[in-house]
Parts: sequence; structure tokens; C-alpha cells
Amino acid sequence: MTDSVNSSARFLIVGPQGSGKGTQGVRIAAAFHIPVVSTGDVFRANVAAGTPLGQKVQAIIEAGDLVPDELTSEIVRDRLSQADAADGFLLDGYPRNLGQVSDLDDFLRGRDESLDAVIELRVPREESIARLSLRAQEQGRTDDTEEVIANRLGIYERETAPILGVYGERGIVDTIDGVGSLDEITDRIVAALEARGLIRTAAA
Ligand code: ADP
Repeated sequence: MTDSVNSSARFLIVGPQGSGKGTQGVRIAAAFHIPVVSTGDVFRANVAAGTPLGQKVQAIIEAGDLVPDELTSEIVRDRLSQADAADGFLLDGYPRNLGQVSDLDDFLRGRDESLDAVIELRVPREESIARLSLRAQEQGRTDDTEEVIANRLGIYERETAPILGVYGERGIVDTIDGVGSLDEITDRIVAALEARGLIRTAAA
């Protein structure tokens, strides 16, 4: 990281369930040498390990509802306070509503930091439903049943999509077509970030 030219890479990746944001988030974070912080992964790991947090959130996740903002934002603040996130991070699955946007704003303002880009992955609803049913067969995630998927997509449209309006006003949203091969989509995202002057480090 010594020859890094840009001083920070603070990104969000936003998209409906089945948009491929988890997969692309990992790829983009690797390219920029920053950690991925996925709130869904944190919750699932805690459920699997049976921690007190896991016990608290298990039923919420299985219903596809949102974990309360206070709890979620605290987890994110703790994680972003770790040393490896000092110069950059990619948040996947957070913020997920306007309250969380404001929590994140407060946190970053307190550190004199701001977001560099919000990557919006767009896929048609039918495509995202098709991908989710495939994932349900392959991975058997307990929140990938038809009913819970419908709930999660509804929450995305009502609560999460509006955050793009807020970030859009700040001029930091890059809307990316999420249909194509994995490599094509990664290339589109990297090109959009580079067009903002966010350059990958030489070690990539
Ligand atoms: P998906 O985007 O497919 O719903 P995630 O892994 O992002 O999958 O999230 C899984 C679940 O974890 C959500 O349905 C929700 O219950 C919980 N969760 C994840 N991120 C958040 C968040 N930012 N706020 C509240 N709940 C969250």
C-alpha cells in the first residue's frame, strides 16, 4: 500500500437482492485493497456461532426484516474503527434506509471523512428473482424462500432505494448495469470509479 496514489477509497455497494452486489463487492474491495464490510455476513456469522447478537437477530433475518438501526449502526461503527478500515472500506448491505444513512454520516463526519462513491448495481426484477431462486437451490439460505424474498425485495424498494436519491444529490452515485458476465460487471465498476479519479494501487 506504500505506493498508493489516492488517499482513500470509501465505497458503498447498493442493489436489490440478487443483483450480485456481494460478489462484486468482494472483487472491487480486492482491487482497491480495502476490507469489505457486509452487515449480512456479520449477522449470519453470529447466528451460525450462536452468539448473543446472533440469538437476537436470528428471527429477524429469517423473516427478511431489518435488524434495528441502533444495533446495526453500532456494529458498523465498531468494524470501521478497526485499523484495516482506516484508509478505506467497501460497505455491502449498509446503509439500508435513511436512518442508517444519517448514522453513517454522523460517524464519518466525526472522523473528518466522507464517502468517495456509491456503486448502484441495477438489475431487472425478474433477473434478480431468477438469480435468487437459483441461489436458494445451491446454497439453501434460510431467508431465500419465496415469501421471504418477496419481503426483502419490498423492503429494498420502499426503504433502501430512497437512499440513492440522497447520495445522488451529493453527486457520488455510479449506476452500473448489473446484467452481464461477472468480469464485465467488475470492469464497468472499476471504470466508473477510475473516472472519478479513484485509482487502484499498483499492487493490484
Ligand atoms: P440480501 O441483500 O440478499 O437481503 P444481506 O446479506 O445483505 O442479504 O442481508 C441479510 C439480512 O441481514 C437482511 O434481510 C436483514 O435481516 C439483515 N441485515 C443486513 N444488513 C442490514 C442492515 N443494514 N440493516 C438492517 N438489517 C440488515
